[in-house]
Amino acid sequence: MFVKVAFPIPTEQVFDYAVPAPLAAAVAVGKRVRAPFGGKTQTGCIVAVAATADVENPKEIMEIVEARPLFGPRELAFYRWIAAYYLYPLGKALHEILPGGKNIRSKTEKTARRMPTSAVPTLTPRQRLVLEALPEAGESDGISLAALRRDLGDVRTVVAALAKKGLVEIGERETFRPLPRRREVGPKADRPVLNAGQEAALREIVTSLRRGHFQTFLLHGVTGSGKTEVYLRAMEETRQGGGGAIYLVPEISLTPRLLARLEERFGGDNIAVLHSGVSRAVRYDQWRLLESGRLSIAVGARSALFAPVRNLKLIVVDEEHDASYKQDERLPYHARDMAIVRGRLEGATVLLGSATPALQTYFNATRGKVSLLVMPKRIADRPLPAVEIVDMAMEKALREGEAGAVLSRRLLAAIAATLQRRQQALLLLNRRGYHTFLVCRDCGRPLRCRNCEVSLIHHADDNRWKCHYCDYSVTGQSVCSHCKSPRIVAYGMGTERLEDEIRARFPAARVRRMDSDTMDRQGAHEELLQALGAEEIDILVGTQMIAKGHDFPNVTLVGVVMADSALNLPDFRAAERTFQLLTQVSGRGGRGDHPGQVIIQTFNPGHYALQRAKDHDYEGFYREETRLRRGLSYPPYARLIQLTLSCPRQAEGEKAAAALAALARELLGGSGERGGTTVAGPVEAPLARLRGRYRWQILLKGDGSRAVRGLARELMARFRVPGVRVKVDVDPVYFM
Ligand code: ADP
Ligand code: ZN
Ligand code: ZN
Repeated sequence: MFVKVAFPIPTEQVFDYAVPAPLAAAVAVGKRVRAPFGGKTQTGCIVAVAATADVENPKEIMEIVEARPLFGPRELAFYRWIAAYYLYPLGKALHEILPGGKNIRSKTEKTARRMPTSAVPTLTPRQRLVLEALPEAGESDGISLAALRRDLGDVRTVVAALAKKGLVEIGERETFRPLPRRREVGPKADRPVLNAGQEAALREIVTSLRRGHFQTFLLHGVTGSGKTEVYLRAMEETRQGGGGAIYLVPEISLTPRLLARLEERFGGDNIAVLHSGVSRAVRYDQWRLLESGRLSIAVGARSALFAPVRNLKLIVVDEEHDASYKQDERLPYHARDMAIVRGRLEGATVLLGSATPALQTYFNATRGKVSLLVMPKRIADRPLPAVEIVDMAMEKALREGEAGAVLSRRLLAAIAATLQRRQQALLLLNRRGYHTFLVCRDCGRPLRCRNCEVSLIHHADDNRWKCHYCDYSVTGQSVCSHCKSPRIVAYGMGTERLEDEIRARFPAARVRRMDSDTMDRQGAHEELLQALGAEEIDILVGTQMIAKGHDFPNVTLVGVVMADSALNLPDFRAAERTFQLLTQVSGRGGRGDHPGQVIIQTFNPGHYALQRAKDHDYEGFYREETRLRRGLSYPPYARLIQLTLSCPRQAEGEKAAAALAALARELLGGSGERGGTTVAGPVEAPLARLRGRYRWQILLKGDGSRAVRGLARELMARFRVPGVRVKVDVDPVYFM
């Protein structure tokens, strides 16, 4: 018997090994093995079992890591599809996808059970005691010796003696490390009565689930329209039909209430939770509980899409527009796009939901590839919040000389009124830290990171200047590193400084801040959101984190301090992101009995992304944005692949980037254009230097995904320069 093993190395090749006789029974696709490779012992994954090998005298595998496979043939087909689509080696992809790590393996426990017998010989009192504590074979697969020890003390020798007499059978079974439970939750019966919009949407989804064929839906429901309830009902239906489901959310730590809602609905022990906040060992066990069919629902961030859910019938992608579904590093996959692929391979229903669908998804809906379900009204016909736009250019002119005038009089007055009504306010500022950046007044240079071509941001908490792209930071230095001038001035504003300003202006208010600086501790989000729900916070200041999926009835004011920060990014999706962010954060307001109010501060008051967000007009935004995209041949009207080339030495990198672009043009036949496929660049990346490496970008663009990917594949096969790394990003989302 032979196996083909994929190792986490940059090659498409898989390697043949012989299986020694004692391991033959345990061999299966989806198990990891330890095997000699390149003079070392390496862990790889079995991707095929065969009667013959393609090489002569293959080496032998040494050990099989798992008692049961981590995935089956259906998942393998899906993983292969992903690896091929993203031009990523299968072995490396498997390494990214599979849970566990070096020292994590499955655990087993010893069990004991009583054998049926009529004649019981004379026993010591202790032997009798233990024997009576054991369950009978046939009724149970035994009690674990660990559990017995808790009640009766160390019973190992007694059990062994009983086994010798033929009265007891000792067995072994797999154990699973439990999820840490925050509280005991049992299934709760009462569910809300669906409204007409929810009913209509659910009916179509249920029809698809019962048919059991692949179909993709877009549930376009405004914020607070009750989309989550529709997802939960669809999952109930799936379970009743004996199917499994995957429920993806952008960042599970930002939605602790969702987990509680799921646990209430399905019971805490019936859900596998897969995200980075759960330890690797527990995730590994959760994964295997799914594979064994003992659990049928997986909830988690993007990587939960890979989970080996049996008989997968439903994949829900909540907030499908969210950019965090795209992994930026290593295997740069998009979980929403791949959810559709997996749905097709498995014959499952895919349910994408959002108040602000990704342009691409809505485009697919207009083309009939995705079935559109619309819920245009909030629960209980609550109104959407009234949105005002404040022109900060006017405001600045009026208040010339007033330092730190980042809050308009309009917003200040609205905050004051909200506090007076004993209601709550959210203030969004998409920049962390204290001052956005610091500039030397004498030489004009900003304080920059040593490794990255970006400004350092001041953090008052620990009085350090920090790089937001690497872990470089310096302590409270106050002179220019360049000309030694002490005259340093602050430009812009971050969440930390905004918090201070709010505290100074509203000293009686209870102010808290939510950004990745305050939220790095486990459970910090949950604690803060709980405090907001308990109305122990009057004003919450934060980055886009505060825009995500929360539902707090007493929040009536939402202020967007600087809508321009996302608009000015060098990214063709800047307007789309801004529209989504503004709509989402606006949607946090007025979800209870009091109407909501939104104030957006900007230097671009006429911009269509802001105007359409003000009018809650998704379709208007979609029309305007698609017209621009079509004109520029950007997605959804073209396919993109971004190549990012990096090198620690500038001159070498620049030369290599030029050579790579030249090779691409040559492959297209010299003119740099063939059959609608084009090459742009190289250009210096917006982050021209990152973690000590200089960076360039080349953009491949084309009508068809196949042609563009073919070009990228050929480039990667031909191009190799020592010291130069090229990252291939199919359907890129981040352009920094
Ligand atoms: P969305 O995900 O669309 O923003 P949610 O699903 O969070 O909206 O629903 C908003 C609120 O309305 C939640 O508190 C939810 O429990 C409640 N809700 C949902 N459906 C109903 C219903 N049919 N009747 C009453 N309340 C509902
Ligand atoms: Zn840096
Ligand atoms: Zn200086």
